[in-house]
Amino acid sequence: MTYAYSPWLLPLLISLGCLVLLGIYAARRRQEPQARTFALLMLTLMVWTVCYILGLASQELAGKIFWLRFKYIGSVSAPLIWLVFSLQFTQNEGRWTRWANAGFGSFYLITLGVVFTSDWQTWMWGKVWIEPGLLEEQVTHGWYFWFYVACSYLLIIISAWLYVRFRLAVPPIHQRQAMLMAIGGLVPLLGRIALDGFGLDLIPQLDEVILLFLVSALIFGVALFRFNLLAIMPVAYSQVFQSMGIGVVVLDPQTQLLEMNPAAKKLIGVDSFGLLGLPLQTLCPPLADLNLDKENIADRVLPGEEGARYFRIRVTLIHNRFQRLLGYLLLLTDITQQKNDAVALEILATRDGLTGLLNRRTFMTLAAQEHQRALRYFHSYTVIMFDLDHFKQINDTHGHLCGDEVLREVAHRCQESLRSVDLLGRYGGEEFVILLPETGKLEAEVVAEKIREAIGGTPVQLDGASNSIFVTISVGGVIFTPDTPHAMQNFDSILSHADAMMYTSKKAGRNCITMWTES
Ligand code: GH3
Ligand code: MG
Ligand code: MG
Repeated sequence: MTYAYSPWLLPLLISLGCLVLLGIYAARRRQEPQARTFALLMLTLMVWTVCYILGLASQELAGKIFWLRFKYIGSVSAPLIWLVFSLQFTQNEGRWTRWANAGFGSFYLITLGVVFTSDWQTWMWGKVWIEPGLLEEQVTHGWYFWFYVACSYLLIIISAWLYVRFRLAVPPIHQRQAMLMAIGGLVPLLGRIALDGFGLDLIPQLDEVILLFLVSALIFGVALFRFNLLAIMPVAYSQVFQSMGIGVVVLDPQTQLLEMNPAAKKLIGVDSFGLLGLPLQTLCPPLADLNLDKENIADRVLPGEEGARYFRIRVTLIHNRFQRLLGYLLLLTDITQQKNDAVALEILATRDGLTGLLNRRTFMTLAAQEHQRALRYFHSYTVIMFDLDHFKQINDTHGHLCGDEVLREVAHRCQESLRSVDLLGRYGGEEFVILLPETGKLEAEVVAEKIREAIGGTPVQLDGASNSIFVTISVGGVIFTPDTPHAMQNFDSILSHADAMMYTSKKAGRNCITMWTES
């Protein structure tokens, strides 16, 4: 066989070089998903191009027919692998069923069978001849050729459709890449339509389709390797992004919304439409004062349908390789439950379940601190203890539940009589204890009397009962001053003196007050 070079072969040789480079590049990155398929795609395009070049260069009809046959090995498999690649890239691999395998496998084998037995039938081509002045052999096509062309069209249309659909579904972060893939997928299709449909044959000497595949391959190469798409699996990322429970908000450097996932929309309580480009303070005013200068974590409260919701927001700055700020990433976690649990736990640990007053342990801790403060700064404070009179009788006459109600009401009335800085605790069953900071003798007696009056002066109206009960208390108090004798200068001893005073009141006939005096 004799071969001759022609300048028409140059674009094909350049194309072959590009395919080889892309193929090697993809093969070296074969660990990355779809890189192998991409490499295989390059290989089929190479086979196609090499056979096409050799066919054009061949000077005899026999040579041209020889390479025509082998060209089909590449040109039949290229659209098939083209489709497989697009299925993989758009995460639609699941659609490549066993039936597809069998169908397309048969198509491949039958087509090659038809091609390689064309000496005995005219299904693919009938007459083949060399036209002087033209490099390509001229053929009359048989019916199978048109079937083959239709199948190839179909495969490329499906691929293009997959890419376009992918481009529409993918979140904005990946849209540039997806756009390139869609363009790459459409090139051979639109090219074929221009060539076959409109007769736009720019290089009559050559079959441009093979060059169009190269254009696509280059675009794919850029989309895949420049944006490193093979490595980051855009669809997987997008699915995680769409389905994760953590709210993700992406802002541009002007804090305008670029993207937010469904979780973020739900957490912030906004609709899907018309949000892109909105500034953060419009989108969600409580987030407007977030510190965006550096990475940080902040908690915010947002109004929700079922009451306020608490959020923990992690702010991350997004930079490019050159440390230029590209935008901000906000990760929102709903911590309402945690917050509520913590509050509930705090209440459980520090409050009395029946009355809501400080429990004994917490009262003692806070009172000890107050005592230390008074000692150190030579201040005064007062401790008052009181116990309900004949409470057992109330329980016995009206029942334990009524007794509880009385305790709650007593606690309430007592609380109402005090300042916010005063400490009020339930010391035991029906015994209460109060610490009045910065309170000396005169005020202490006034407060004690006020409480006695508040509780004993008005009968307690019991829920559901027509009767009301008078409840009285016996009160004992100690005023701590810097002059208090040394033996009394710890809180426990002050408390036990207050207790003693309370019992003095009991002995004195109840419903009265006894204040400790130095004597
Ligand atoms: P005194 O005037 O001497 O204090 O008479 P009292 O009946 O109040 O004295 P005592 O200490 O004998 O009785 C206290 C009663 O308080 C006994 C107990 O059943 C009742 N009690 C204590 N804690 C609770 C409570 O949480 N709920 C109810 N309903 N009763 C309680
Ligand atoms: Mg009592
Ligand atoms: Mg008692």
